[in-house]
Amino acid sequence: MTFDELNLIDPILKALKEEGYTNPTPIQAQAIPSLLQGKDLLGCAQTGTGKTAAFAIPIIQLLYNQREQERKRKLTSTLILTPTRELAIQIGDSFEAYGRYTGLKHTVIFGGVSQHGQTNALKHGIDILIATPGRLLDLMQQGFVDLNHVKLFVLDEADRMLDMGFVHDVKKVLSKLPKQKQSLFFSATMPPEIVKLANTILHNPVKVQVAPVSSTAEKVTQQLYYIDKTNKKSLLIDLLKKKDMHSVLIFARTKHGADRIAKDLTKQGFKTAAIHGDKSQNARQNALNDFKNGVIKTLVATDIAARGIDIDNLSHVINYEIPNQPETYVHRIGRTGRAAASGIAISFCDAEEREYIRDIEKLIGQKIPVIESHPYPMQDFTPVPKSTNDRRHQKKGEHQTQSKATSNNNSGRKFKGEAPRSENRAQGHKKLSSKPKFNSNKY
Ligand code: AMP
Repeated sequence: MTFDELNLIDPILKALKEEGYTNPTPIQAQAIPSLLQGKDLLGCAQTGTGKTAAFAIPIIQLLYNQREQERKRKLTSTLILTPTRELAIQIGDSFEAYGRYTGLKHTVIFGGVSQHGQTNALKHGIDILIATPGRLLDLMQQGFVDLNHVKLFVLDEADRMLDMGFVHDVKKVLSKLPKQKQSLFFSATMPPEIVKLANTILHNPVKVQVAPVSSTAEKVTQQLYYIDKTNKKSLLIDLLKKKDMHSVLIFARTKHGADRIAKDLTKQGFKTAAIHGDKSQNARQNALNDFKNGVIKTLVATDIAARGIDIDNLSHVINYEIPNQPETYVHRIGRTGRAAASGIAISFCDAEEREYIRDIEKLIGQKIPVIESHPYPMQDFTPVPKSTNDRRHQKKGEHQTQSKATSNNNSGRKFKGEAPRSENRAQGHKKLSSKPKFNSNKY
Protein backbone atom coordinates (compact mmCIF):
# COMPACT_ATOMS: atom_id res chain seq x y z
CA MET A 1 0.00 0.00 0.00
CA THR A 2 1.11 3.59 -0.65
CA PHE A 3 0.05 6.87 0.98
CA ASP A 4 -1.68 7.78 -2.31
CA GLU A 5 -4.27 5.08 -1.57
CA LEU A 6 -5.26 6.57 1.79
CA ASN A 7 -7.30 9.49 0.39
CA LEU A 8 -4.99 12.10 1.82
CA ILE A 9 -5.11 15.73 0.73
CA ASP A 10 -2.39 17.11 -1.56
CA PRO A 11 -0.65 19.36 1.02
CA ILE A 12 -0.03 16.28 3.21
CA LEU A 13 1.02 14.02 0.33
CA LYS A 14 3.50 16.66 -0.78
CA ALA A 15 5.00 16.93 2.72
CA LEU A 16 5.22 13.14 3.09
CA LYS A 17 7.02 12.91 -0.21
CA GLU A 18 9.55 15.43 1.02
CA GLU A 19 10.01 13.35 4.17
CA GLY A 20 10.80 10.38 1.93
CA TYR A 21 7.78 8.34 3.07
CA THR A 22 6.08 6.25 0.39
CA ASN A 23 4.48 3.34 2.24
CA PRO A 24 2.49 3.69 5.43
CA THR A 25 3.73 1.55 8.34
CA PRO A 26 1.20 -1.09 9.55
CA ILE A 27 -0.17 1.13 12.31
CA GLN A 28 -0.60 4.01 9.85
CA ALA A 29 -2.38 1.81 7.30
CA GLN A 30 -4.72 0.54 10.01
CA ALA A 31 -5.37 3.79 11.88
CA ILE A 32 -5.56 6.55 9.27
CA PRO A 33 -8.78 5.49 7.44
CA SER A 34 -10.77 5.05 10.69
CA LEU A 35 -9.51 8.29 12.16
CA LEU A 36 -10.48 10.15 9.00
CA GLN A 37 -14.01 8.79 9.52
CA GLY A 38 -14.08 10.38 12.99
CA LYS A 39 -13.78 7.17 15.02
CA ASP A 40 -12.13 6.80 18.44
CA LEU A 41 -9.01 4.66 18.47
CA LEU A 42 -7.22 2.39 20.91
CA GLY A 43 -3.66 1.80 19.70
CA CYS A 44 -1.32 -0.73 21.26
CA ALA A 45 2.02 0.40 19.87
CA GLN A 46 5.34 1.75 21.01
CA THR A 47 7.67 4.36 19.54
CA GLY A 48 9.46 3.19 16.43
CA THR A 49 6.29 1.89 14.78
CA GLY A 50 5.35 5.17 13.12
CA LYS A 51 2.57 5.85 15.61
CA THR A 52 3.15 9.62 15.69
CA ALA A 53 2.40 9.97 11.98
CA ALA A 54 -0.52 7.54 12.44
CA PHE A 55 -2.30 10.17 14.50
CA ALA A 56 -0.67 13.39 13.23
CA ILE A 57 -1.58 12.86 9.55
CA PRO A 58 -5.34 12.32 10.02
CA ILE A 59 -5.52 15.12 12.61
CA ILE A 60 -3.93 17.55 10.15
CA GLN A 61 -6.36 16.44 7.44
CA LEU A 62 -9.43 16.71 9.69
CA LEU A 63 -8.47 20.21 10.84
CA TYR A 64 -7.59 21.33 7.32
CA ASN A 65 -10.97 20.17 6.07
CA GLN A 66 -12.89 22.27 8.62
CA ARG A 67 -14.82 25.24 7.31
CA GLU A 68 -12.48 28.09 6.49
CA GLN A 69 -14.12 30.34 9.08
CA GLU A 70 -13.43 27.77 11.77
CA ARG A 71 -9.86 27.32 10.67
CA LYS A 72 -9.12 31.01 10.92
CA ARG A 73 -10.18 31.16 14.57
CA LYS A 74 -7.18 29.20 15.92
CA LEU A 75 -9.07 28.01 18.99
CA THR A 76 -6.99 24.99 20.11
CA SER A 77 -9.16 22.27 18.63
CA THR A 78 -6.63 19.47 19.24
CA LEU A 79 -4.86 18.49 22.45
CA ILE A 80 -2.10 15.88 22.58
CA LEU A 81 -0.89 14.79 25.99
CA THR A 82 2.45 13.02 26.20
CA PRO A 83 4.58 12.14 29.24
CA THR A 84 8.03 13.59 28.45
CA ARG A 85 9.48 16.76 27.05
CA GLU A 86 11.50 14.81 24.49
CA LEU A 87 8.37 13.12 23.16
CA ALA A 88 6.47 16.43 23.12
CA ILE A 89 9.22 18.03 21.05
CA GLN A 90 9.30 15.10 18.64
CA ILE A 91 5.52 15.19 18.18
CA GLY A 92 5.80 18.94 17.53
CA ASP A 93 8.47 18.26 14.90
CA SER A 94 6.17 15.73 13.23
CA PHE A 95 3.28 18.23 13.00
CA GLU A 96 5.74 20.77 11.62
CA ALA A 97 6.92 18.31 8.96
CA TYR A 98 3.60 16.78 7.85
CA GLY A 99 1.56 20.00 8.21
CA ARG A 100 3.96 22.44 6.61
CA TYR A 101 1.67 23.13 3.61
CA THR A 102 -1.58 23.46 5.55
CA GLY A 103 -1.18 26.75 7.46
CA LEU A 104 -2.19 25.01 10.71
CA LYS A 105 -0.46 26.22 13.84
CA HIS A 106 0.79 24.12 16.72
CA THR A 107 2.81 24.70 19.85
CA VAL A 108 4.58 22.49 22.37
CA ILE A 109 4.49 23.13 26.12
CA PHE A 110 6.51 21.31 28.80
CA GLY A 111 8.10 21.99 32.17
CA GLY A 112 11.70 22.73 33.06
CA VAL A 113 12.02 25.84 30.91
CA SER A 114 10.63 29.38 31.13
CA GLN A 115 6.94 29.53 30.27
CA HIS A 116 7.26 32.87 28.49
CA GLY A 117 7.71 31.59 24.91
CA GLN A 118 4.94 29.06 25.46
CA THR A 119 2.40 31.56 26.77
CA ASN A 120 3.26 33.94 23.93
CA ALA A 121 2.49 31.26 21.36
CA LEU A 122 -0.78 30.45 23.15
CA LYS A 123 -1.83 34.11 23.15
CA HIS A 124 -1.44 34.28 19.36
CA GLY A 125 -3.80 31.33 18.90
CA ILE A 126 -2.97 27.78 17.82
CA ASP A 127 -4.84 24.82 16.33
CA ILE A 128 -2.86 22.00 17.93
CA LEU A 129 -1.48 21.92 21.45
CA ILE A 130 1.11 19.29 22.42
CA ALA A 131 1.73 19.20 26.16
CA THR A 132 3.11 17.34 29.14
CA PRO A 133 0.51 17.16 31.93
CA GLY A 134 2.27 19.21 34.67
CA ARG A 135 2.96 22.32 32.64
CA LEU A 136 -0.43 22.11 30.96
CA LEU A 137 -2.22 22.18 34.33
CA ASP A 138 0.00 25.07 35.43
CA LEU A 139 -0.84 27.14 32.39
CA MET A 140 -4.51 26.20 32.58
CA GLN A 141 -4.64 27.49 36.15
CA GLN A 142 -2.96 30.70 35.10
CA GLY A 143 -5.63 31.14 32.44
CA PHE A 144 -3.41 30.77 29.38
CA VAL A 145 -5.09 27.65 28.00
CA ASP A 146 -8.72 27.27 27.00
CA LEU A 147 -9.70 23.68 26.26
CA ASN A 148 -13.38 24.38 25.60
CA HIS A 149 -12.99 24.01 21.84
CA VAL A 150 -11.08 20.73 21.79
CA LYS A 151 -12.56 18.33 19.23
CA LEU A 152 -9.65 15.90 19.01
CA PHE A 153 -7.81 14.50 21.99
CA VAL A 154 -4.78 12.19 21.97
CA LEU A 155 -3.37 10.45 25.02
CA ASP A 156 0.09 9.23 24.06
CA GLU A 157 2.16 6.60 25.93
CA ALA A 158 -0.54 6.05 28.55
CA ASP A 159 1.39 3.29 30.33
CA ARG A 160 4.35 5.57 30.80
CA MET A 161 2.05 8.27 32.20
CA LEU A 162 1.04 5.71 34.79
CA ASP A 163 4.69 4.76 35.49
CA MET A 164 5.64 8.37 36.02
CA GLY A 165 2.75 9.05 38.37
CA PHE A 166 0.91 11.40 36.01
CA VAL A 167 -2.43 9.64 35.84
CA HIS A 168 -4.18 11.99 38.29
CA ASP A 169 -2.99 14.97 36.30
CA VAL A 170 -4.27 13.32 33.12
CA LYS A 171 -7.66 12.76 34.75
CA LYS A 172 -7.77 16.40 35.83
CA VAL A 173 -7.10 17.53 32.28
CA LEU A 174 -9.74 15.10 30.98
CA SER A 175 -12.35 16.61 33.27
CA LYS A 176 -11.84 19.99 31.57
CA LEU A 177 -12.36 18.70 28.02
CA PRO A 178 -15.70 18.92 26.19
CA LYS A 179 -17.72 15.68 26.29
CA GLN A 180 -18.21 15.65 22.54
CA LYS A 181 -14.87 14.87 20.91
CA GLN A 182 -12.86 12.27 19.02
CA SER A 183 -10.36 10.51 21.31
CA LEU A 184 -7.23 8.53 20.51
CA PHE A 185 -5.42 6.47 23.13
CA PHE A 186 -1.95 4.96 22.66
CA SER A 187 -0.07 2.67 24.99
CA ALA A 188 2.82 0.22 24.47
CA THR A 189 1.32 -2.19 27.00
CA MET A 190 -2.25 -2.71 28.19
CA PRO A 191 -2.25 -3.60 31.89
CA PRO A 192 -5.73 -3.61 33.57
CA GLU A 193 -5.35 -0.07 34.93
CA ILE A 194 -4.67 1.24 31.44
CA VAL A 195 -7.63 -0.65 29.97
CA LYS A 196 -9.83 0.90 32.67
CA LEU A 197 -8.59 4.38 31.87
CA ALA A 198 -9.09 3.79 28.14
CA ASN A 199 -12.67 2.67 28.78
CA THR A 200 -13.47 5.94 30.52
CA ILE A 201 -12.21 7.96 27.55
CA LEU A 202 -13.12 6.02 24.40
CA HIS A 203 -16.48 5.28 22.75
CA ASN A 204 -16.63 2.22 20.49
CA PRO A 205 -12.99 2.55 19.55
CA VAL A 206 -11.33 0.91 16.60
CA LYS A 207 -8.53 -1.23 18.00
CA VAL A 208 -5.13 -1.45 16.36
CA GLN A 209 -2.16 -3.38 17.58
CA VAL A 210 1.33 -3.64 16.15
CA ALA A 211 4.32 -5.85 16.83
CA PRO A 212 4.93 -6.54 20.51
CA VAL A 213 8.24 -5.52 22.06
CA SER A 214 10.16 -8.78 21.66
CA SER A 215 9.75 -8.89 17.88
CA THR A 216 11.73 -5.63 17.52
CA ALA A 217 14.84 -7.73 18.02
CA GLU A 218 14.26 -9.64 14.80
CA LYS A 219 15.30 -6.95 12.34
CA VAL A 220 18.40 -5.84 14.22
CA THR A 221 21.75 -7.56 13.67
CA GLN A 222 23.04 -8.40 17.13
CA GLN A 223 26.61 -9.10 18.20
CA LEU A 224 27.91 -10.13 21.58
CA TYR A 225 31.48 -9.66 22.82
CA TYR A 226 32.51 -11.48 25.99
CA ILE A 227 35.15 -9.25 27.55
CA ASP A 228 36.65 -8.23 30.89
CA LYS A 229 35.32 -5.01 32.34
CA THR A 230 38.77 -3.39 32.22
CA ASN A 231 39.04 -3.90 28.44
CA LYS A 232 35.67 -2.47 27.41
CA LYS A 233 37.11 0.99 26.79
CA SER A 234 39.81 -0.36 24.44
CA LEU A 235 37.32 -2.49 22.50
CA LEU A 236 34.98 0.46 22.10
CA ILE A 237 37.74 2.66 20.72
CA ASP A 238 38.93 -0.10 18.35
CA LEU A 239 35.42 -0.64 17.00
CA LEU A 240 34.76 3.06 16.52
CA LYS A 241 38.05 3.40 14.63
CA LYS A 242 37.60 0.40 12.37
CA LYS A 243 33.90 0.01 11.73
CA ASP A 244 31.79 2.14 9.51
CA MET A 245 29.84 3.69 12.34
CA HIS A 246 28.20 6.93 11.28
CA SER A 247 25.82 7.36 14.23
CA VAL A 248 26.39 5.38 17.39
CA LEU A 249 24.28 5.49 20.53
CA ILE A 250 26.25 4.06 23.47
CA PHE A 251 24.35 3.02 26.58
CA ALA A 252 25.89 3.37 30.03
CA ARG A 253 24.26 2.34 33.29
CA THR A 254 25.02 5.49 35.30
CA LYS A 255 25.44 9.15 34.48
CA HIS A 256 28.93 9.04 35.94
CA GLY A 257 29.72 6.14 33.60
CA ALA A 258 28.23 8.03 30.65
CA ASP A 259 30.40 11.06 31.40
CA ARG A 260 33.49 8.89 31.76
CA ILE A 261 32.93 7.16 28.40
CA ALA A 262 32.25 10.48 26.67
CA LYS A 263 35.45 11.91 28.19
CA ASP A 264 37.52 8.89 27.10
CA LEU A 265 36.18 9.09 23.55
CA THR A 266 36.71 12.84 23.33
CA LYS A 267 40.33 12.31 24.43
CA GLN A 268 40.70 9.87 21.53
CA GLY A 269 39.44 12.49 19.09
CA PHE A 270 35.83 11.28 18.67
CA LYS A 271 33.26 14.07 18.74
CA THR A 272 31.00 12.86 21.53
CA ALA A 273 28.38 14.11 23.97
CA ALA A 274 26.68 12.53 26.96
CA ILE A 275 23.02 12.90 27.91
CA HIS A 276 21.69 12.01 31.35
CA GLY A 277 19.56 13.29 34.20
CA ASP A 278 22.14 15.86 35.37
CA LYS A 279 22.25 17.70 32.06
CA SER A 280 19.94 20.65 31.54
CA GLN A 281 17.12 20.37 29.02
CA ASN A 282 19.00 22.72 26.71
CA ALA A 283 22.25 20.76 26.94
CA ARG A 284 20.36 17.55 26.18
CA GLN A 285 18.50 19.09 23.27
CA ASN A 286 21.72 20.56 21.83
CA ALA A 287 23.51 17.22 22.11
CA LEU A 288 20.56 15.50 20.44
CA ASN A 289 20.43 18.04 17.61
CA ASP A 290 24.19 17.76 17.04
CA PHE A 291 23.83 14.00 16.91
CA LYS A 292 20.85 14.10 14.55
CA ASN A 293 22.64 16.56 12.26
CA GLY A 294 25.82 14.50 12.20
CA VAL A 295 27.94 17.12 13.99
CA ILE A 296 28.77 14.42 16.53
CA LYS A 297 28.77 10.75 15.57
CA THR A 298 28.71 9.21 19.04
CA LEU A 299 26.25 9.92 21.82
CA VAL A 300 26.48 8.31 25.25
CA ALA A 301 23.21 8.01 27.17
CA THR A 302 21.66 6.47 30.25
CA ASP A 303 18.42 4.57 29.68
CA ILE A 304 16.40 7.21 31.44
CA ALA A 305 17.78 10.08 29.35
CA ALA A 306 17.36 8.09 26.13
CA ARG A 307 13.72 7.18 26.80
CA GLY A 308 11.53 8.07 23.91
CA ILE A 309 14.19 9.86 21.90
CA ASP A 310 13.73 9.34 18.23
CA ILE A 311 16.82 9.39 16.07
CA ASP A 312 16.65 8.54 12.38
CA ASN A 313 19.31 6.48 10.66
CA LEU A 314 21.06 5.24 13.76
CA SER A 315 23.71 2.85 12.48
CA HIS A 316 24.75 1.24 15.75
CA VAL A 317 23.68 0.80 19.34
CA ILE A 318 26.39 -0.25 21.77
CA ASN A 319 25.53 -1.73 25.14
CA TYR A 320 28.68 -0.79 27.03
CA GLU A 321 27.01 -2.38 30.01
CA ILE A 322 24.33 -5.05 29.80
CA PRO A 323 21.03 -3.95 31.34
CA ASN A 324 19.70 -6.05 34.22
CA GLN A 325 16.16 -5.76 32.83
CA PRO A 326 15.80 -7.79 29.61
CA GLU A 327 13.07 -5.46 28.27
CA THR A 328 15.54 -2.58 28.49
CA TYR A 329 17.82 -4.47 26.08
CA VAL A 330 14.98 -4.75 23.57
CA HIS A 331 14.14 -1.05 23.92
CA ARG A 332 17.78 -0.10 23.47
CA ILE A 333 18.43 -2.16 20.36
CA GLY A 334 15.06 -1.16 18.87
CA ARG A 335 16.50 2.33 18.42
CA THR A 336 18.56 1.08 15.51
CA GLY A 337 15.68 -0.70 13.77
CA ARG A 338 13.28 2.21 13.42
CA ALA A 339 10.44 2.01 10.89
CA ALA A 340 11.84 0.44 7.74
CA ALA A 341 15.51 0.74 8.78
CA SER A 342 17.69 -2.01 10.20
CA GLY A 343 20.84 -1.65 12.23
CA ILE A 344 23.49 -3.29 14.36
CA ALA A 345 23.45 -3.71 18.12
CA ILE A 346 26.71 -4.60 19.85
CA SER A 347 26.89 -5.76 23.46
CA PHE A 348 29.93 -5.89 25.75
CA CYS A 349 29.39 -8.54 28.41
CA ASP A 350 31.72 -9.10 31.37
CA ALA A 351 31.68 -12.03 33.79
CA GLU A 352 29.16 -10.46 36.14
CA GLU A 353 26.74 -9.67 33.34
CA ARG A 354 26.46 -13.15 31.84
CA GLU A 355 23.27 -13.86 33.74
CA TYR A 356 21.62 -10.79 32.28
CA ILE A 357 22.40 -12.15 28.80
CA ARG A 358 20.65 -15.40 29.68
CA ASP A 359 17.53 -13.46 30.74
CA ILE A 360 17.64 -11.40 27.54
CA GLU A 361 17.96 -14.47 25.32
CA LYS A 362 14.98 -16.00 27.08
CA LEU A 363 12.89 -12.90 26.39
CA ILE A 364 13.83 -12.50 22.73
CA GLY A 365 13.69 -16.25 22.11
CA GLN A 366 17.03 -16.36 20.35
CA LYS A 367 20.75 -16.69 21.07
CA ILE A 368 22.70 -13.50 20.46
CA PRO A 369 25.54 -14.34 18.01
CA VAL A 370 28.89 -14.21 19.81
CA ILE A 371 31.95 -12.60 18.17
CA GLU A 372 34.57 -15.18 19.12
CA SER A 373 37.62 -13.63 17.57
CA HIS A 374 38.56 -10.23 18.97
CA PRO A 375 41.67 -8.75 20.65
CA TYR A 376 40.29 -8.78 24.22
CA PRO A 377 38.81 -12.22 24.93
CA MET A 378 37.45 -12.70 28.42
CA GLN A 379 40.09 -13.89 30.88
CA ASP A 380 38.19 -13.54 34.11
CA PHE A 381 35.50 -16.22 34.07
CA THR A 382 34.88 -16.06 37.81
CA PRO A 383 31.37 -17.33 38.31
CA VAL A 384 29.06 -14.84 39.95
CA PRO A 385 29.18 -15.58 43.71
CA LYS A 386 25.91 -16.15 45.54
CA SER A 387 26.05 -12.81 47.31
CA THR A 388 26.36 -11.04 43.95
CA ASN A 389 23.54 -13.17 42.68
CA ASP A 390 21.35 -11.92 45.49
CA ARG A 391 22.43 -8.39 44.74
CA ARG A 392 21.34 -8.91 41.19
CA HIS A 393 17.82 -9.85 42.22
CA GLN A 394 17.74 -6.91 44.54
CA LYS A 395 18.86 -4.74 41.62
CA LYS A 396 15.90 -5.90 39.56
CA GLY A 397 13.49 -4.59 42.15
CA GLU A 398 15.51 -1.44 42.50
CA HIS A 399 15.36 -0.82 38.82
CA GLN A 400 11.59 -0.55 38.89
CA THR A 401 11.73 2.01 41.66
CA GLN A 402 14.57 3.65 39.84
CA SER A 403 12.55 4.23 36.67
CA LYS A 404 9.92 6.06 38.64
CA ALA A 405 12.22 8.07 40.76
CA THR A 406 14.54 9.07 38.00
CA SER A 407 11.68 9.85 35.68
CA ASN A 408 10.64 12.32 38.30
CA ASN A 409 14.19 13.43 38.59
CA ASN A 410 14.23 13.84 34.88
CA SER A 411 11.11 15.86 34.66
CA GLY A 412 12.66 19.17 35.35
CA ARG A 413 12.76 19.77 39.09
CA LYS A 414 16.35 20.83 38.98
CA PHE A 415 15.42 23.84 36.83
CA LYS A 416 14.74 26.81 38.98
CA GLY A 417 11.32 28.19 39.62
CA GLU A 418 9.24 26.21 37.13
CA ALA A 419 8.54 22.89 38.83
CA PRO A 420 5.16 21.84 37.43
CA ARG A 421 2.63 20.65 39.94
CA SER A 422 2.65 17.07 38.77
CA GLU A 423 6.35 16.91 39.38
CA ASN A 424 5.91 18.11 42.93
CA ARG A 425 3.20 15.54 43.33
CA ALA A 426 5.38 12.85 41.82
CA GLN A 427 8.04 13.81 44.30
CA GLY A 428 5.49 13.31 47.07
CA HIS A 429 4.64 9.95 45.56
CA LYS A 430 8.30 9.01 45.73
CA LYS A 431 8.44 9.92 49.38
CA LEU A 432 5.38 7.84 50.16
CA SER A 433 6.75 4.73 48.51
CA SER A 434 9.16 2.54 50.44
CA LYS A 435 12.60 4.00 50.98
CA PRO A 436 14.57 3.79 47.72
CA LYS A 437 17.40 1.28 48.01
CA PHE A 438 19.45 2.96 45.31
CA ASN A 439 20.96 6.31 44.68
CA SER A 440 18.65 7.89 42.11
CA ASN A 441 21.22 10.61 41.51
CA LYS A 442 23.32 8.06 39.71
CA TYR A 443 21.17 7.89 36.57
P1 AMP B 1 7.42 6.92 15.78
O1 AMP B 1 6.99 5.52 16.04
O2 AMP B 1 6.30 7.83 15.58
O3 AMP B 1 8.40 7.37 16.85
O4 AMP B 1 8.24 6.92 14.38
C1 AMP B 1 9.46 6.26 14.22
C2 AMP B 1 10.27 6.78 13.05
O5 AMP B 1 9.73 6.30 11.81
C3 AMP B 1 10.33 8.29 12.92
O6 AMP B 1 11.66 8.65 12.71
C4 AMP B 1 9.51 8.63 11.70
O7 AMP B 1 10.04 9.74 11.04
C5 AMP B 1 9.66 7.36 10.86
N1 AMP B 1 8.46 7.08 10.03
C6 AMP B 1 7.18 7.18 10.41
N2 AMP B 1 6.37 6.79 9.41
C7 AMP B 1 7.15 6.44 8.37
C8 AMP B 1 6.89 5.96 7.06
N3 AMP B 1 5.64 5.74 6.62
N4 AMP B 1 7.94 5.71 6.25
C9 AMP B 1 9.21 5.90 6.70
N5 AMP B 1 9.52 6.36 7.92
C10 AMP B 1 8.51 6.62 8.76
